[in-house]
Amino acid sequence: MTYTYHNPTLIEFGKEKIKSIFNYIPKDAKVLFVYGGGSIKKNGVYEQVVKALEKYESFEFSGVEPNPTVETMNKAVKIVKEKNINFILAVGGGSVIDGCKYLAAASLYEGDAWDFLDGTTQPTEALPLGVVLTLPATGSESNCGSVVSRKTTNEKRFFFSPKVFPMFAVLDPSVMITLDDRQLSNGLIDAFVHTCEQYLTYPNDSLLHDGYSETILKGLITLANNWNKRDTYHWQENLMLLANQALNGFIGSGVPQDWATHMIGHELTAFYGLDHARSLAVVQPQLLRVMFEDKKEKLLQMGQNVFNIDDAQKTIEKIEELYHSLEVSTNLNDYEIDDKVVSNITNALEKHEMTAIGEKQNITLDKIEQILTLTMK
Ligand code: NAP
Ligand code: FE
Repeated sequence: MTYTYHNPTLIEFGKEKIKSIFNYIPKDAKVLFVYGGGSIKKNGVYEQVVKALEKYESFEFSGVEPNPTVETMNKAVKIVKEKNINFILAVGGGSVIDGCKYLAAASLYEGDAWDFLDGTTQPTEALPLGVVLTLPATGSESNCGSVVSRKTTNEKRFFFSPKVFPMFAVLDPSVMITLDDRQLSNGLIDAFVHTCEQYLTYPNDSLLHDGYSETILKGLITLANNWNKRDTYHWQENLMLLANQALNGFIGSGVPQDWATHMIGHELTAFYGLDHARSLAVVQPQLLRVMFEDKKEKLLQMGQNVFNIDDAQKTIEKIEELYHSLEVSTNLNDYEIDDKVVSNITNALEKHEMTAIGEKQNITLDKIEQILTLTMK
């Protein structure tokens, strides 16, 4: 096994940590405080951030939508340039954070920053970024990935750049009190699938990586089994810990990674607006069935070590049952799709040069067609 692992994001975890941002944002910074549709005004987060920024020259930008768009974020780029802002503070879930990663890099780029998303170029620099997380799910608070959409073309793409690692991230579980069941179940499922994308791959037999992933998966299953305790601090704290570790880069270092469920899911969201996690819940079980021959060894291991069963096929059923227990559908027909769904998704993947995905790059368009057909049961 060989890998390079470097996660530079400083984590401040725990109650009342929001005020600590003052220790990390340079005193002479001009800050753009970015948030979403206003949930932070219902749980005290907004007031805490305003208080922490009291001594700074700061500006606000709100209205970042779920599945952030370049159309919205380019408005923020304009403000950054006009006001000479030199620090971005993202306060929200994965969408605000991802949007701000784009913003941080786009603000120092001369051309059309969609270039980062369509792979034309890589960011060479970015403004420093800090995060106050309000929704544990994506791991975006301490990774260098960003998923951004372009409304005009129905596209949802991603970029990775070490330049956009947040400098710090505040993870205070008490901000989760206002999360509804939809977002809590989405967060749990996104973290579960992130772990699977890095664990259900072969060859991949590091005792450390496997054990770490299995601990995350078992933790998430325990939370699902204790869904009636989701209002407690203990439950919420654990989701925040687990979702963060699921995608901070470590469990994926040195092992083959799949991500095909995410790639197909992104297209479903771009065309039909499914929540990110819900698109994953639809795709993943059928992908595991279609790719069973490649996945069976690892599925058996997951069955034994995570679900306590001795059957690779049944592991897929257990995964589906987990999503159903959270009242999340695995049937694409439960969403507003149309009869062009299969061709829309495969054409988009082809346009995005994703015609052979997965850890072995053998999930080809014909297999993706099979997977999508199976999702409409
Ligand atoms: P999100 O889209 O950031 O937020 C979903 C909703 O939750 C928003 O309406 C938001 O409202 C609300 N919300 C957030 N915090 C809340 C709180 N404490 N109380 C009440 N409501 C709250 O959800 P997400 O699942 O975190 O992010 C999804 C995005 O991340 C997708 O675009 C997905 O593709 C991407 N993603 C990124 C990565 C990565 O590594 N970068 C990985 C996986 C997925 P407000 O807008 O009003 O705050
Ligand atoms: Fe995800």
